[in-house]
Amino acid sequence: KKLNVALCGLGVYADLVAKGIQVSEYCTLAGIVTGTPSKAAQWKSQYNIPEKNIYNYQNFDEIIKNKDIDLVYVILPNGLHKEFVIRAAKAGKHVITEKPMAITVKDCEEMIKACDDNKVQLALGYRLHYEPTHLEIKRLGQEKVLGQVRFIEASLGYQIHDPRDTKSTVNLNDRNEWRLNKKLSGGGPLMDLGIYCIQASRYILGEEPIAVTAQFGTIHNKQIFSETEESISWQMEFPSGALSSCNTTVSYNVDRLYASADEGFFELSPALSYGPYEGKSSKGPLKFPVINQQQTQMDEIAKVLLENKKLPNHITGEEGLKDIKVINAIYKAAETGKKVSLT
Ligand code: NAD
Repeated sequence: KKLNVALCGLGVYADLVAKGIQVSEYCTLAGIVTGTPSKAAQWKSQYNIPEKNIYNYQNFDEIIKNKDIDLVYVILPNGLHKEFVIRAAKAGKHVITEKPMAITVKDCEEMIKACDDNKVQLALGYRLHYEPTHLEIKRLGQEKVLGQVRFIEASLGYQIHDPRDTKSTVNLNDRNEWRLNKKLSGGGPLMDLGIYCIQASRYILGEEPIAVTAQFGTIHNKQIFSETEESISWQMEFPSGALSSCNTTVSYNVDRLYASADEGFFELSPALSYGPYEGKSSKGPLKFPVINQQQTQMDEIAKVLLENKKLPNHITGEEGLKDIKVINAIYKAAETGKKVSLT
């Protein structure tokens, strides 16, 4: 048997997930949830989806009666993750939600509780947890292959907004507009991209940050960035004494990771985007096969669920919640100019 998956929200990332599921071994794209009738028709014919497995945001709860759907994958704007994860859980479906898990700690806790109460499992769409280059940097760091990691630098940003164009009101294309709306996004690039820098720092060290400091970058265009940051830099302190210094932005292109350890270093660039990743350590090149990240993520999650086993901790709601706690602390530190403790 394969795991029957319904995708909820059919935007740009859902397209990539659908293509991953198409070539997956353990999943079938069985259903869709969309607010746009034309997309329903297009996906129905493209992916051969039965009419009875097509829902909109209003009639979605009827999925409780549909035995042909095992899991709902929520790929909506961040501010909608909570509502749809909880509705899917109440319908008795396992759930995957995209990153960031939600906007507040309370939202994450409610999502975890709804899944527990309804005896379904909740996974996060952290695609890099299955990726060989990232599994290797996690091993190098956590097993102290080059000694204790003391310092990490991680940056991820894309030039979606051109800082030289300070007058424009349409610098961001339509699909990114919800990312500028705080209610729907929860914040700017920290929520969207910076989360990968937090994740990488946490899994290289195998530790949780104990304190953060942070600084918002310059806002070049106050019309575009009236609700969300354009850039942010932050620093995380870890119990071992290790430091991580990170940046994220929508004003310039950057995608790199560097870790300094007692007996060497490792680095990747590109590091955190879709790859392919390139890197080296003080012992030589880091070169691993390029995988289909969405397919691998779906297969790894499906294998566990099909065997009725528990998902590993590092991909569950608890993991998503840890990142939101750090993100909230970073925003607080940037707003107050003070160090924020996480202990
Ligand atoms: P998108 O804008 O392309 O898609 C969002 C979808 O939500 C659209 O189909 C839109 O119609 C629908 N939607 C429903 N209600 C909406 C509303 N009120 N406002 C706006 N859109 C609404 O965005 P995306 O890039 O596909 O991102 C969706 C989610 O996936 C986000 O949480 C994002 O962080 C995440 N994401 C993850 C990765 C990854 O690598 N894991 C990559 C990209 C995006």
